[in-house]
Amino acid sequence: MPFELKDLKEHNSELLNLLTRHLPDMLWVKDLDGVYVYANQAICDGLLMAKDVSEPIGKGDVFFALRERELHRDEPSWHTFGELCFNSDIDVIKNNKAMKFEEYGNVKGKLTYLEVYKAPFYDKDGNVVGTVGAGRDITELKNIQSDLERSLKTLDEQRETLEYQANHDSLTNLPNRALFMDRLNQSINIARRDNKKLALLFIDLDHFKEINDSLGHEIGDKILVEFTRVISTRIRSADTLSRLGGDEFCVILNDVRDVDSITDFILELMEMSKNAYLIDNHTLYMSMSVGVSIYPNDGVSAGALLKNADAAMYKAKDSGRSAYSFYDEKMTATAVERVYLEMELRKAFVRDELVAYFQPQMNGKTGALVGMEALARWNHSTMGLVFPDRFIPLAESNGMIIELDRIIMTQALGQFKQWKLDGLNPGKLSMNLAIKQLESEDFYDFIINLLDLKSCSYENIEFEITESQIMKNPEKSIEILNKISDLGISIAIDDFGTGYSSLAYLKRLPIKKLKIDKSFVDNLPTDAEDVAISKTIISLCENLNLKVIAEGVETVEQKDFLLKNGCEFIQGYFYSKPLKAEDMTNFIIKYASKVAL
Ligand code: C2E
Ligand code: CA
Ligand code: CA
Repeated sequence: MPFELKDLKEHNSELLNLLTRHLPDMLWVKDLDGVYVYANQAICDGLLMAKDVSEPIGKGDVFFALRERELHRDEPSWHTFGELCFNSDIDVIKNNKAMKFEEYGNVKGKLTYLEVYKAPFYDKDGNVVGTVGAGRDITELKNIQSDLERSLKTLDEQRETLEYQANHDSLTNLPNRALFMDRLNQSINIARRDNKKLALLFIDLDHFKEINDSLGHEIGDKILVEFTRVISTRIRSADTLSRLGGDEFCVILNDVRDVDSITDFILELMEMSKNAYLIDNHTLYMSMSVGVSIYPNDGVSAGALLKNADAAMYKAKDSGRSAYSFYDEKMTATAVERVYLEMELRKAFVRDELVAYFQPQMNGKTGALVGMEALARWNHSTMGLVFPDRFIPLAESNGMIIELDRIIMTQALGQFKQWKLDGLNPGKLSMNLAIKQLESEDFYDFIINLLDLKSCSYENIEFEITESQIMKNPEKSIEILNKISDLGISIAIDDFGTGYSSLAYLKRLPIKKLKIDKSFVDNLPTDAEDVAISKTIISLCENLNLKVIAEGVETVEQKDFLLKNGCEFIQGYFYSKPLKAEDMTNFIIKYASKVAL
């Protein structure tokens, strides 16, 4: 039975007091103006700071709020319950329904949260005459809740970081192989659905390994980061650039229309990446080789596209680097051959299938033999005689060149010793020296021991190092070349004119001789450009006091032109192809009387 508000005092009986005094929950009744008609002990102690339960009667929250504020006037952030609570009273009255609130304010110096339940209070006729309320301190709960929220947020952040780390390369922040494969699969699905093409670019930095090995990983890392920074600016947000590992990068180009647009894009990337990189006082030039496969033409699965782009990249590398190449089916065959050759080459070492051939080097003026170049041949049981262009680049890229060079040097020097023992004069023995060999730690000891073993005097030996290999890292080569040259061994630069020699280095390196590359000799004396280049090399040698020899000389016109312009030494089919040892013996005997150094 509803009460009249005024009756409440009478009913504020002992029983009611007894019931509510010891409850921890706050209970109260207010009239329409928010004035307390009833308040239990808990609200007096916990919120209003009232002396006893009679004090609130006839007063509103504002009274207690002001009293509290007065006590804490020096604390600007202080706010009391009273100000907020009255607002929710009004809401309950206006809406004429029971409502639940969470309210907070400062109580005894502590931020306190209350869960408050308020309901309209009706008279006999059903009119709203006030509110009844119950409140419970939920501060502790709230604190636990917000701790929990904070932990969840941290967990979320940690999960995100972990997920990011699992999918990204820590050095460049690019998507790693896992994420890349995921994206590639997505791209393939979209291309299939929309009947579109996509291109996969496999990018490999040229000569990165050499830089990494010679200048150190820190610099290598910086190059990768810088390369990524440069290239990223050109990647559309719809496309993906990722680092698969080492110096290998991949780009997915979605929705490609034609080959030209892919080519243009690659050329642009090449141009961008070509600029000099200034890293820790080293000016480095980077180029890249790119292989391309296209969906669906070259494969419909992520694996096939990747494999074929990789094969195309190898083709680009083989064609002289800083190049790009589109996949075609023949490449799979090449890749298979590569694996086969590598396997067979390993066996060749133990089966003694490598043979040193010798090509005479002549004085063109006198027709005398001045020396010879040792050239590797591979006598394979089923493939027959395999030429170096098929296995030297392979051996250079997988490191087998070190062992290969040592085998050829050992054989050539053994033969050389034999000729001498037989009383022949073979002149000077020139041997090709791969830069990896030169830079291998024990090379110096190896060569001294070998020359000693073959009782060969240092003056009879020459090493040929290609221009491009030596110019890759001239500083590093200078020291060891000086040591070798100090012994009396001469150094020649092979394939001269095809690399980018710096004159400064030419003067500092202990070089005795330049070899004009065959490609400049081929079109002598008709091609004006080749004429100019070979003349320039010859006069460079005169000025720097170097010997000069031309290789690949096949015709009398070529020989005559070279002689006339001051290049006396000639190597090439005009005199002889590379010969096996017995044939070379006969060649020496034939030209024995003419030997001159
Ligand atoms: P290279 O050092 O420039 O050797 C000269 C190449 O030109 C040789 O090819 C030789 O046979 C060829 N050649 C010489 N004269 C003529 C000519 O008149 N006409 C034509 N068409 N060709 C001529 P080869 O023997 O096939 O060797 C190719 C390359 O493989 C060499 O080029 C050299 O860089 C490398 N190589 C060969 N043997 C070894 C080796 O034992 N160690 C290393 N590191 N490299 C080697
Ligand atoms: Ca050579
Ligand atoms: Ca050469």
